[in-house]
Amino acid sequence: MSTLLAPIGIFGGTFDPVHFGHLRLAQELLTELALKEVRFIPAGRPPHRAEPAVSSSQRLEMVQLAIEANSRFVLDEREVRKDGLCYTVDTLGELRHEMGPEQPLCLLMGADQFLGLPSWHNWQALFALAHVVVAHRPGFPQISWADNMPDALQKEVISRQRTEVNALYTLPSGHIYTQPITPLDISATSIRNSLQRGQSPRYLLPDAVLDYIQTNNLYM
Ligand code: ATP
Repeated sequence: MSTLLAPIGIFGGTFDPVHFGHLRLAQELLTELALKEVRFIPAGRPPHRAEPAVSSSQRLEMVQLAIEANSRFVLDEREVRKDGLCYTVDTLGELRHEMGPEQPLCLLMGADQFLGLPSWHNWQALFALAHVVVAHRPGFPQISWADNMPDALQKEVISRQRTEVNALYTLPSGHIYTQPITPLDISATSIRNSLQRGQSPRYLLPDAVLDYIQTNNLYM
């Protein structure tokens, strides 16, 4: 009998800046799904959003500071190092090529991002490359109750959702799995807004990241 490979978590985001909402999501999914590692992939120039407020290399450095004490968290710089637009489906294609056809990959995201999935480039191709794991996020409906879910996404949920974590081990891609996590109502937007108002976002993000923000006068 062949041994099942532990899935690898792929966690993309703008991380502008990285905060405890991101880190708890990664840690709880790492533990709950017994992932081999979580790979943080800061977005270069994200196709769906306005240009981030600080440079890509600064966002990268903040993620590095936030995760360096955790040996199961890995920084993947590929999207920031590329010129031009970068689509998740292409990044996942590269990872699939590097890791081989058997390795389960789990694309990790919050419920807000999942509901916007149909606006992503070639989104239905994601399921041929990875599982999609959705963490609850305060202020957004859990996916099973989301009555505002686009029809095409609802269809994917109906056919792909699994409630057994084993499903993420027995196939390399193709399932949707939902995981409740400690609800932390933290967003990068609210951190940037606090800094702009001269208020401290301390305890919403790691001290090392806040020190970096202050030393470099970011978001002021
Ligand atoms: P912004 O406020 O700038 O939109 P954000 O805080 O949502 O940023 P992103 O970098 O856009 O952070 O998010 C990366 C991923 O982390 C997304 O999948 C998002 O859903 C998830 N995420 C961010 N914050 C939380 C949180 N507090 N709880 C659960 N998921 C979160």
